[in-house]
Amino acid sequence: MQTITSDIIFRNDEAFPTEMDAIDPLAKFAYRFHKPKNAKGEDLIYFCGNSLGLQPKTVRSYIEQELKDWEDLGVEGHFHAKNPWMPYHEFLTQQMAKVVGGKALEVVVMNTLTVNLHLMMVSFYRPTQQRYKIVIEYSAFPSDQYAVKSQIKFHGFNPDDALIELYPREGENTIRTEDIEALIEQEGDSIALIMIGGVNYYTGQAFDMKRITQAGHKKNIVVGFDLAHAAGNLKLQLHDWNVDFAVWCSYKYLNSGPGGIAGCFVHERHANNSDLPRFTGWWGHDKATRFLMGPDFDPIPGAEGWQISNAPVLPMASLRASLAIFDEAGMDAITTKSRTITAYLEYLLENIGNENISIITPKDQSQRGAQLSIRIKNSNKAFFNKLIDNGIICDWREPDVIRVAPAPLYNSYSNVFQFAQILKQILA
Ligand SMILES: *Cc1c(COP(=O)(O)O)cnc(C)c1O
Repeated sequence: MQTITSDIIFRNDEAFPTEMDAIDPLAKFAYRFHKPKNAKGEDLIYFCGNSLGLQPKTVRSYIEQELKDWEDLGVEGHFHAKNPWMPYHEFLTQQMAKVVGGKALEVVVMNTLTVNLHLMMVSFYRPTQQRYKIVIEYSAFPSDQYAVKSQIKFHGFNPDDALIELYPREGENTIRTEDIEALIEQEGDSIALIMIGGVNYYTGQAFDMKRITQAGHKKNIVVGFDLAHAAGNLKLQLHDWNVDFAVWCSYKYLNSGPGGIAGCFVHERHANNSDLPRFTGWWGHDKATRFLMGPDFDPIPGAEGWQISNAPVLPMASLRASLAIFDEAGMDAITTKSRTITAYLEYLLENIGNENISIITPKDQSQRGAQLSIRIKNSNKAFFNKLIDNGIICDWREPDVIRVAPAPLYNSYSNVFQFAQILKQILA
């Protein structure tokens, strides 16, 4: 059996992945990351970039630079460090904006993801008695469910009534865009906010953010996305899609390290909107007058105006190291490889020919990124542990799903081939 993706014809033999690795324009980037190793010092096959990306080898020197300047300069580092700490977050804006398709004015790195989600809902979830509902995808990441439910309660509404979950049709695993549009059309007048994960963490489904935003705006609904699994994974065009706001973390595909600094997008049309309530702090205050230490808040126009605290320089240094790699590789090359390597993984899984394996992630490449969620019927955690014993790092989701993410920057076609071989052996 042969499968074709763009102009590549996959073959199910051992030579094929080596040929692919040899012509892979991103292959050289794999050497820029530290690879977890087994007890014998051999590289493990790492498919958990959707959970915690690997460490770029440059991270250490980026952080050491700031440690050194702190050591040598103390407080003076705010102005005289090689990379002054005062405006440190600004060093990340341009590259982060490119990753998500926003303008510099629209993007800021700050806080962590769920915190940013709350801050955005403070400004963009403004329920009234007529229009108070929030739409979210079913089986959204738990933190998002907790956050939206708590916001609903905070405004005095009941999540049982005010939270609308989008479900797949009977017998299907993922949600159809036309069903989302139909729901918005029907119930739109009661909906205040649509807040969906750009890529669902469990199924790996990528939503059509452009169409959903259009449908929402037609009904005067605010539309925001949680891009935890989309940033650094999909080609995003948040500005052009007209998304109102978005939030994302940077430790998954963006490889910034555990608990890394998150991102936030606020569309330009809200840049100077003083009607939006917000939770404020000194770092969102006009830079020219911030240190006059006056009592009244005067926001920086754009996303920066939502900052609360001063920049956590050490984790930002780590994110800088990673964004430099994204900038060099470019999201076009990353998404091109992502489509091919993920399709290759799918091809090999189909070729195992075991009826207990099914892929719940959409087959349509425009509806997924670099993750396949694989349902393995009659499997259990012991099965998953066998994968670990064989040097595969992926993850297990109850009751029977493994998530496998071939991250284009550091995974090779050979990694994918070896994984499929090992999976086949274990299932046999
Ligand atoms: C990973 C992830 C989170 C994690 O939130 P933190 O605030 O970074 O701990 C939240 N939402 C989604 C959709 C995620 O994928």
